[in-house]
Amino acid sequence: MNQKGLLMVISGPSGTGKGTLVKHLLKRNNRIQLSVSATTRNPRPGEVDGVNYFFLKEAEFKEKLAQDEFLEHAEVYGNYYGTPKAFVEDQLNKGQSVLLEIDIVGALQIREKFEEVVFLFVIPPSLKELQRRIKTRGTETQEQMAKRMDSALEEIKELKQYDYVILNDQIHKATRLIESIVEAELASVKRSQSYWLDLFGVGR
Ligand code: 5GP
Repeated sequence: MNQKGLLMVISGPSGTGKGTLVKHLLKRNNRIQLSVSATTRNPRPGEVDGVNYFFLKEAEFKEKLAQDEFLEHAEVYGNYYGTPKAFVEDQLNKGQSVLLEIDIVGALQIREKFEEVVFLFVIPPSLKELQRRIKTRGTETQEQMAKRMDSALEEIKELKQYDYVILNDQIHKATRLIESIVEAELASVKRSQSYWLDLFGVGR
């Protein structure tokens, strides 16, 4: 029997550098898997189906929803997003930790369904930097950018729903912080005791 992996949720407004941070974290840690979400939004330049997202038509998404294939789902900026259930459960059982990069609506659904989830919130170094990062992303219309700035500020208000703040001023520092959290959480008695007691054959 191996110890079950850790389920983690990582959220944070667009413009926090969350995507780059997650990529860096995964590259350094082969015991952490990213859950690839399904979405009905159009792919951005460079995005690949099955890698960044599973890009679905609305009817396909709704059918999967009806079949109970999502762990959680939400409508964000007019599109649907959902976490495929099978992959997450499979990886956790194999002892892999799984990261869900989802918004607050989805995060709250996960909190209801699973007891032992770790919630990480990525925060930009300053308001000015947040504005700069949203602007320089450059793939959106003015109206979409304004919408993202407003919702970024709304999202930051939800910080209190999370367990850890990840200040993303330096990517290496932020990555190390997440790695330390994973190690500490996996070593916590509440999470690991049944594994150790079984290993030494002393029952529970
Ligand atoms: P984007 O379209 O910029 O990739 O993502 C927009 C928002 O949707 C982000 O806040 C992202 O975290 C969220 N998101 C991505 N995948 C999922 C998902 O599977 N479920 C939920 N609830 N939110 C998601």
